[in-house]
Amino acid sequence: MMDYCEVCGREVETKIITRKEIFNVCGEDIEVDAQVMVCAECGEELFNEELDSATLINAYNEYRRRHKLLLPEEIRKIREQYGLSQRSFAKLLNWGDKTIRRYENGAVQDRAHNSLLLFLREPENMRTYLTENEVALEEKQVVKLLDTVDKLEQDTDFRVGRRYFDLFFSRIPCEENGFKGFDYEKLCAMVLFFAHKSAGLLKTKLMKLLNYSDMIFYKENGLSISGLKYAHLPYGPVPDNFDMILGKMAADHIAHIEVFYDGSYENHQVVPECDVPEGVLSDEEIEVLTRIYEKFKNFGSAEISNYSHKETGYNATKTGQIISYAYAMDINLN
Ligand SMILES: [Zn+2]
Repeated sequence: MMDYCEVCGREVETKIITRKEIFNVCGEDIEVDAQVMVCAECGEELFNEELDSATLINAYNEYRRRHKLLLPEEIRKIREQYGLSQRSFAKLLNWGDKTIRRYENGAVQDRAHNSLLLFLREPENMRTYLTENEVALEEKQVVKLLDTVDKLEQDTDFRVGRRYFDLFFSRIPCEENGFKGFDYEKLCAMVLFFAHKSAGLLKTKLMKLLNYSDMIFYKENGLSISGLKYAHLPYGPVPDNFDMILGKMAADHIAHIEVFYDGSYENHQVVPECDVPEGVLSDEEIEVLTRIYEKFKNFGSAEISNYSHKETGYNATKTGQIISYAYAMDINLN
């Protein structure tokens, strides 16, 4: 990308470097790897809004990780699970009118607020809260909310599915999951996206496409898309416990694997069972998936495996180890 450098006094080639930067988040110094655009000729730093905001998101997420705080998106999910508006949710909690909106938009929540939100994530706790507190909601809103709590408690998919997944997939953001709790819904949308785009998509290739999508999105935005962890296996980086996820996707009629034989080779093909859901992936996420699809569309499973073997993160880890998203900074697809 070309940009104007004031020192050189003309349009110059730019490059992106990584350096440590310290940000003050809520009175605490947080060191992050910041990506900065500089003039390729004289090294002068050039302003780049996207990189700056990605770095800031990184710093905030690092702060949240240190203090085990919910991410903005997780707060939104808790509210939506109860079908409440931002205003009603704030009212229910006896918080200021705009508090929930600020948190969902990225302001760091205070610790007491975080504890209450974590507690209320469980429907049975919401019932307790409603019975033990004088809440400022209208009577009919309370009735409706209790009804939603009932439904959530009866919904065995919600309960069993969540507990089962919680055993294997962390909902707490950390470096291993790209600072994002595991998001089954987004992962399903990613799998469907690739399965619909590429006819005869094989499982081995899908695993690499997911890995590159999460890593590149993380590199550019400071968060992964799916919250998957990726492990180092002999044939490249693969999502941790992936067969378990594929089992659930088959049970949910999202997609399943069909085995066919090509000579003596056993091929595992991904067969989609529904359309890519609307509104699950953001425009930015779809843009990254499209870029990854385009980059690798003519690669076979073996080629993409070989390609992934040269990545720093893969080479720096041993078989079975989780590959940190920090290595995403070294991935360059051009
Ligand atoms: Zn310059």
